[in-house]
Amino acid sequence: MKTLGLLGGMSWESTLPYYRLLNEAVRDRCGGLHSARLLLSSVDFADLEIMMRTNRWDDAGAFLGREAALLERAGAEAILLCTNTLHKVAPAIEAALSIPLLHIVDPTAAAIRGAGLGRVGLLATRFTMEGDFYLARLRQQGVDVIVPGEADRLEAHRIIFEELCLGKTPDASRRTVQQIIGRLADAGAAGVIFGCTEISLLLEPKDSALPVFDTTALHAAYAVDWALAN
Ligand code: GLU
Repeated sequence: MKTLGLLGGMSWESTLPYYRLLNEAVRDRCGGLHSARLLLSSVDFADLEIMMRTNRWDDAGAFLGREAALLERAGAEAILLCTNTLHKVAPAIEAALSIPLLHIVDPTAAAIRGAGLGRVGLLATRFTMEGDFYLARLRQQGVDVIVPGEADRLEAHRIIFEELCLGKTPDASRRTVQQIIGRLADAGAAGVIFGCTEISLLLEPKDSALPVFDTTALHAAYAVDWALAN
């Protein structure tokens, strides 16, 4: 089994489920007392949040590139960036590494294609829903993706940063996200991507009117496949 390096803490609320999912997948695949070989660099999210909000993406890329290189030097054989949004700087992280970065979009696109769905909706931060780095990679892999309208994008972004990243999961926000999913369905979506690693802390698939593609779970499963196959 290969050693995976996790770049986490963005937020730490969603790094916790990553840790559990990775270990459960190894236990299920290998049996007995087997567990995942992991290294974790958990950053101070306040620093990254300022860089994102003030559009200092180059600084974020340089910072995460240095953290990823530290993980490689410590023995990581592939890197898992435990957030969708910071994949905006995936090229800078990859440039700092000689090991692979297991990109969160790739298993997500594969799962959507595998389910044979036409159009899917994306729920994520504004950075992810409005930038090209995420949508373009999905589309390149054959996924027809739509995003919520502007008011819904703003509200989803607020819920992520002001609530979910702080461990708050109010019922009112659960209902709001369910309504956004309903509007994505009205716009023709046949599934919804939980394209933020904290959304599954608020909603379970059974709470969604549309089939869910949860990036946290898909990313973790993909990483374990990689660690056991290579
Ligand atoms: N973890 C979130 C994501 O998957 C949002 C927080 C962040 O910007 O890193 O995009």
